[in-house]
Amino acid sequence: MLGSFFSVLWESFIGTLAYYKANILFEVPWYQNYFYGLILISLVIWGLEIVFPWRKNQQVFRKDFFLDLGHMFFNFFLFSAAISGFYALLESGFSQFNIDMKSLALLSLDQLPMVAQLLLFFVVLDFVQWTTHVALHRFEWLWRFHQVHHSVKEMGFAAHFRYHWMENILYKPLKTLGVMLLGGFEPEQAYIVHFAAITIGHLNHANLGLTYGPFKYLLNNPVMHLYHHAKALPKEHPFGVNFGISLSVWDYLFRSSFVPRKEAHLELGYEGDEQMPSSFVAQHLYGFKKMQ
Ligand SMILES: [Zn+2]
Repeated sequence: MLGSFFSVLWESFIGTLAYYKANILFEVPWYQNYFYGLILISLVIWGLEIVFPWRKNQQVFRKDFFLDLGHMFFNFFLFSAAISGFYALLESGFSQFNIDMKSLALLSLDQLPMVAQLLLFFVVLDFVQWTTHVALHRFEWLWRFHQVHHSVKEMGFAAHFRYHWMENILYKPLKTLGVMLLGGFEPEQAYIVHFAAITIGHLNHANLGLTYGPFKYLLNNPVMHLYHHAKALPKEHPFGVNFGISLSVWDYLFRSSFVPRKEAHLELGYEGDEQMPSSFVAQHLYGFKKMQ
């Protein structure tokens, strides 16, 4: 029993590492290469920040730039390899009770045309992540972990991936539920959705004064998301505003949107952010101690 427990964990971990190695060595199709994809998206958006900066006085290597690059590679690659093992274990546990990924399917995604599959996948996944994000702000013990992301004092694309490794775990249950409701599998071309989400997320944190005109009611954008990171919250929204991940529409529908004007120089952070440790390791260990 214990032997099979460790072999599921180990095989999944090794499998994920092998997958990333294949990415690095160009052994996967170029359009599914998340390693170079993430680097390419980062370089393009960093280039846009340098050529068209919104806050003109912000340095190219802004405060905590390298700290955030560290978070980016850790959260995107290393940690996801480690936790994939735990989810392989969960799945093998569920299967003993005859529960599998298809048990909760509301519809069969494969009956729809590919564009509709991808759109539905994108919208459903974005909504469950919006819900998780609201919870991260609403519950004290979750907020402690999410404070790492909100400790950013100067905003740039790489701040997108500054977050506590626990968030990888906390986002997973509802994301898995979303996939289960949609038939239990990701569409064949889901990488398009994943790359779109990375690009939109990078842009949301970039030093760019974009709103996308009338599409601001649909798509989250850097101007709107800066208010999400503002230290001063409006009185009527003590737990935060603008929780959108890729789409802003949920905040407009559920009345949590707040964009009074286009303001580049908001003070960022949260009350008490001076307590946040400044090192990479200390930030990943943060949040487990009892609140004083
Ligand atoms: Zn947040």
